[in-house]
Amino acid sequence: MSARPDYDLLIAGGGMVGSGLAALVAAAEATRGLRIALVEPKPALAPLPGEPLDVRVSALSRAALRLLVAAGAWSLVDARLPCAYERMIVWDSTAPAAGPDTLVFDAAEVGEPDLGHVVENRAVAAALLERALAAGVTLIKSPVTGLELDADLARVALGERTVTTGLVVAADGADSPLRRLAGLGGEASAYPQEAFVAHLGSELPHGSAARQRFLPEGPLALLPLADGRVSVVWSTRPERAAALAALDDLAFSAAVTAASDGVLGRLTLSSSRPRFPLRHFNASSYRGIRLALIGDAAHSVHPLAGQGVNQGFLDALALAAVIGAAVQDGEDPGDPRVLGRYARPRQAENALMGAALDGIFRIFTDERPLVRRGRRLGLGLVNRSRGLKRLLIAQAQGS
Ligand SMILES: Cc1cc2nc3c(=O)[nH]c(=O)nc-3n(C[C@H](O)[C@H](O)[C@H](O)COP(=O)(O)OP(=O)(O)OC[C@H]3O[C@@H](n4cnc5c(N)ncnc54)[C@H](O)[C@@H]3O)c2cc1C
Repeated sequence: MSARPDYDLLIAGGGMVGSGLAALVAAAEATRGLRIALVEPKPALAPLPGEPLDVRVSALSRAALRLLVAAGAWSLVDARLPCAYERMIVWDSTAPAAGPDTLVFDAAEVGEPDLGHVVENRAVAAALLERALAAGVTLIKSPVTGLELDADLARVALGERTVTTGLVVAADGADSPLRRLAGLGGEASAYPQEAFVAHLGSELPHGSAARQRFLPEGPLALLPLADGRVSVVWSTRPERAAALAALDDLAFSAAVTAASDGVLGRLTLSSSRPRFPLRHFNASSYRGIRLALIGDAAHSVHPLAGQGVNQGFLDALALAAVIGAAVQDGEDPGDPRVLGRYARPRQAENALMGAALDGIFRIFTDERPLVRRGRRLGLGLVNRSRGLKRLLIAQAQGS
């Protein structure tokens, strides 16, 4: 590199994944001296003590938890009472929840205390941001508005101001302006579905289990919360979503109770219920000149297996390791050969996960009688195969 850039690493996007990478690189021994900037127009605010749980929560795998622990952020997230889930119960709407064709993953089967935790997104992002700032990362409260990438350094426009960096990481979400500015494409397809998220009180205890019922119109997930409620993620056709949005709270609660087949008794809405469009995307490359993509900027998946941010955290862990090794070996972390060590394996792994989730989506929304029967029996068969179950748990755990 000819001129010394303002920063060694600039991360655009301070959501869970971008803040995670910043905290991780800043905390690691190998990269402790790097000058790191995190550019985010709306930094996450830590919830105040006693503040009600936000409606956006995620199921984090044990592998994703590693990032929070390595970054020193887990104790801060822990204060917001994440809910450990010990079981996952999956069934098709053609079968009863307690029947032989229900798939049950139990943490005990793989010798773990739990399968993961349901955490509040804003608490995770704020905790990681706090750790990043404490470790010396500079927060720039602005959006990235322009990008010029060349072999020596990257110029990043922040409104009127321009800063230079040896490596830009785009962690700016599914609509990633940086990915577009860098001219990186990929295959995108919108699912014919929207997802509602909401918290509901339940008549019966959730028993620390995450549940998913596959309905013909899309899956309904019930994630356990530490306060005894469940967080619902209900993916359904846009016209059905519009009809559900028009219902009052009582009627909406009744609709979710019916969709869950009453598995937890009567459910009662106790939060807002925002909706999200769903799509499948994987960037054709996770690197450009002095640029890497991570998190939703690189890939989006259907939330049916709760994998989006988990994949993003695995990206951050992989990229932090590649940057660390390069710094230790005296290499330039922005060198395309170095970035290839991160980009190729993660792109391939995320493509596999995306394709698997896409396949599950298609099978479970296929209404042909033979397919419906096959998937119901398939769940039961997987449930009776210990080896396959172990494999699937390991895959979902990112290990
Ligand atoms: C309904 C639903 C349920 C889900 N449930 C789960 C789950 O249970 N488990 C799971 O693992 N995943 C889940 N996901 C996926 C998960 O929410 C996403 O994968 C995750 O939020 C992506 O994080 P991110 O940091 O990559 O992107 P984002 O959270 O989108 O963050 C991007 C950040 O970039 C900033 N930004 C945007 N433009 C710019 C710019 N020009 N310059 C600088 N910064 C910019 C934004 O302000 C934002 O803070 C779910 C998703 C949905 C829709």
